[in-house]
Amino acid sequence: MKVTVFGIGYVGLVQAAVLAEVGHEVMCIDVDAKKVENLKNGVIPIFEPGLTPLVKKNYEEGRLQFSTDAELGVHHGEMQFIAVGTPPDEDGSADLKYVTAVARTIAQHMTSHKVVLDKSTVPVGTADKVRSVMEETLKARGVDISFDVVSNPEFLKEGAAVSDCMRPERIVIGTDNEDVVDLLRELYEPFNRNHDRMILMDIRSAELTKYAANCMLATKISFMNEISNLAERLGADIEKVRMGIGSDSRIGYSFIYPGCGYGGSCFPKDVQALIRTAQQIGYTPRILQAVEEVNHDQKLKLPEFISRHFGEDLKGKTFALWGLSFKPNTDDMREASSRVLMEALWERGAQVQAYDPEAMDETQRIYGHRSDLKLMGTKEAALQDADALVICTEWQSFRAPDFDAIKKSLKQPVIFDGRNLYDPERLSKRGFVYYAIGRGASI
Ligand code: NAD
Repeated sequence: MKVTVFGIGYVGLVQAAVLAEVGHEVMCIDVDAKKVENLKNGVIPIFEPGLTPLVKKNYEEGRLQFSTDAELGVHHGEMQFIAVGTPPDEDGSADLKYVTAVARTIAQHMTSHKVVLDKSTVPVGTADKVRSVMEETLKARGVDISFDVVSNPEFLKEGAAVSDCMRPERIVIGTDNEDVVDLLRELYEPFNRNHDRMILMDIRSAELTKYAANCMLATKISFMNEISNLAERLGADIEKVRMGIGSDSRIGYSFIYPGCGYGGSCFPKDVQALIRTAQQIGYTPRILQAVEEVNHDQKLKLPEFISRHFGEDLKGKTFALWGLSFKPNTDDMREASSRVLMEALWERGAQVQAYDPEAMDETQRIYGHRSDLKLMGTKEAALQDADALVICTEWQSFRAPDFDAIKKSLKQPVIFDGRNLYDPERLSKRGFVYYAIGRGASI
């Protein structure tokens, strides 16, 4: 089938590559000419496991194309995916300007029926907006061409995006048209062989499903962080509590890790956007507001521990920082806890020596101008002559380090661990002062 994808970001590029891999002919359109040019030359703009060979292979074999020519894209596919960003507006609501711009573009150039699928995360009612923008544009052109608008939210996880798209847990389709369902069954057939993963519903429910999923996950994290704050004050160990509650099959072990706060391009903005949607209709979303507040404060935990240990004035101190991306297996630093930490340290006069397995270029792009940040080539180099080690991301390569070497490199054997990677007792026996999240029994 012929498919066009507008927006070659984490969602658009991965979805396009995966659709091409199973045999569809996919054209990707982006306004970022440099990104398009790079992709044509085999330079993949993001780090995502398995993505580079998939993109290169399908591009070379002609099933995946990249262009800035929107008109070409509109003519290419009967199905037109919108996978552009929906960043937070000033008031926290989702900014839909990129989504409506694509809708307008499609309507400006279409000469035959199109199915417009919204993959971007958008507030309930956006499909109606897309429809009316398209109707207005077609009317202004003086043409009458039919089209469908479908909500098809994306549930991929950064860091596992390719496998999530290859073997999705669910394919949510919000539509009011049975013919569209048939078309989408054909499109997604290759991902649906093991069992039927398609969940059909009305458009508004599909739009809300995406927000509900992300807000539920964010709630689990903030809940555990709240309990970890209690554990810290009550002399309990949150890691033992986590095991204890995870063993209940109604709760389960996944997504109940305490830490130094959630980040990324989705949870913070989607929680805020749903809060805003609720407020706009006169409902006070008390749980969501608390989820956000707890997360905001949780990102300040590591700076607080550092002040507790070193005092407020950090002039002349250097901190080794392991982990810059908002989670492992990605180079994405949007809303990362590491950014709150670094900015707090700089404000108090400290220097940072940072290392991340994948997010060094992104850090350079954001903070490269700063003289109080040194980007180091290895995790060992980051430790050299630092006053303490701080951990913000739970990369595999940080899980079993050489503690003797860490002790030798640091000026003081102090670790501030925002991801609870180590055993407090073992570290204490080795002579470390170890700060972790919610481990009151051992700190
Ligand atoms: P992104 O910022 O990585 O990519 C968006 C791309 O859209 C950019 O390359 C940008 O240049 C392009 N773009 C902007 N305007 C355009 C236009 N008019 N025509 C063509 N291209 C245009 O964004 P992302 O992380 O891929 O997220 C896209 C959407 O998917 C968001 O709504 C997000 O909430 C949602 N989502 C993201 C994830 C994730 O893990 N990143 C997961 C599920 C859903």
